[in-house]
Amino acid sequence: MTVKSSAEIVVVGGGIMGLSVAYHLARAGVRDVVVVDKSYLCGGASGRNGGGVRAQWSSESNIRLMQESIRICSEFASEMKINVWFRQGGYLFLTRSESRAEQLRASVALQQSCGLRTELLTPREAKRIVPELDTTGVALASYNPDDGVVFPWPFVWGYAQAAQKLGVEVHTHTEVLGFDTANVGTRIEAVRTSKGRIATHTVVNAAGAWSPEVARMLGVELPNTPHRHEICSTEPLKPFLKPLVADLDTGLYFSQSMRGEIVGGVSNEQVPHGVDHQSSARFLGLYASALMRTVPILGAVKVLRQWSGCYDLTPDANPIVGPVDEVEGFHQASGFMGHGFMMAPVMGKLLAQYLVEQTALPLFDRWNLRRFKEGRLLSEGMIIG
Ligand SMILES: Cc1cc2nc3c(=O)[nH]c(=O)nc-3n(C[C@H](O)[C@H](O)[C@H](O)COP(=O)(O)OP(=O)(O)OC[C@H]3O[C@@H](n4cnc5c(N)ncnc54)[C@H](O)[C@@H]3O)c2cc1C
Repeated sequence: MTVKSSAEIVVVGGGIMGLSVAYHLARAGVRDVVVVDKSYLCGGASGRNGGGVRAQWSSESNIRLMQESIRICSEFASEMKINVWFRQGGYLFLTRSESRAEQLRASVALQQSCGLRTELLTPREAKRIVPELDTTGVALASYNPDDGVVFPWPFVWGYAQAAQKLGVEVHTHTEVLGFDTANVGTRIEAVRTSKGRIATHTVVNAAGAWSPEVARMLGVELPNTPHRHEICSTEPLKPFLKPLVADLDTGLYFSQSMRGEIVGGVSNEQVPHGVDHQSSARFLGLYASALMRTVPILGAVKVLRQWSGCYDLTPDANPIVGPVDEVEGFHQASGFMGHGFMMAPVMGKLLAQYLVEQTALPLFDRWNLRRFKEGRLLSEGMIIG
């Protein structure tokens, strides 16, 4: 099947971010949107992640965005008519060093001032939420009961189906190969794909870990770097674990799915940067020892499946969103590190609003690519992995 010859907006990348943007554009009345993806839906990080959704952050913008995203998640199944297995068992964060505990105190105070139900917990209080925890070495914990976990695949399919119903064309196995431009490369005329040329003046780069590659086709340099992150899933166990547990010092995180599997991962800083979807024995060793130290009774559980995906890292742990100065009509929606899945519901809505109404959003100014040139780097302390 060839692509249509022209479109109002072309979205590069049919992961959660691109599909959320496309869906919200169509909902806002833009009828001529095309999404192209070189792989299958869920082939990128959106089909390879832990499905964690949380409002516990260290910056006010992330807290407020995620309050809205969690609200969208809670209505997603009824709105999209698809079960996304959304379960609000909370996130339990653990810290082991005094310096991180200090940062956690500040983050929790900020979250509470934004209206979150987050509580600071002593190690003993954390055991009330997960009695199986070994809290040796844990300095402080925090818990927000409204955080949760979704099953990522139906979430992606839900956006894709809903967007298509509203007239969006979604082309999988369709790779963007380049762009035609005018005005010495500063204006987009068309997107060249493996299935034909689409004339357009507006493109959203939602290619995740591949977004620098796509931007480079237009001569735009993004500072993002792909970084492989591994994850695994065990045999199903009788439900016992309510929250997603995340250790801010080791990067360990794990939750129990609605099917009973323990799904989780851990930081592995020795992985070189670059797109890579391999699995390693080293990861299993790191994960197993961190998990057994935290919940010793899981020492006997059998790992059934192991896979990996790419985080899309930026130098200041904040994404790159909105227009770029170099090329008119070229919009970014990338650099979402290890938390783009949870951000996509709200980001898709905001980016679509921006594209339709052309109203300046302060958030997009903060997250603009230009901040790297201007030295206005941001920060975020509650990053996992
Ligand atoms: C192991 C792991 C665990 C994670 N856990 C969580 C979590 O618990 N919670 C959370 O919120 N986030 C998590 N993340 C991060 C999250 O998965 C990502 O931030 C999010 O899925 C990014 O979505 P995306 O649509 O931007 O990118 P992707 O899903 O990667 O989609 C990009 C798409 O672009 C396509 N593409 C690339 N180049 C081209 C081209 N030239 N032409 C056409 N198409 C192209 C790719 O095929 C791909 O499908 C995790 C990530 C990993 C790897």
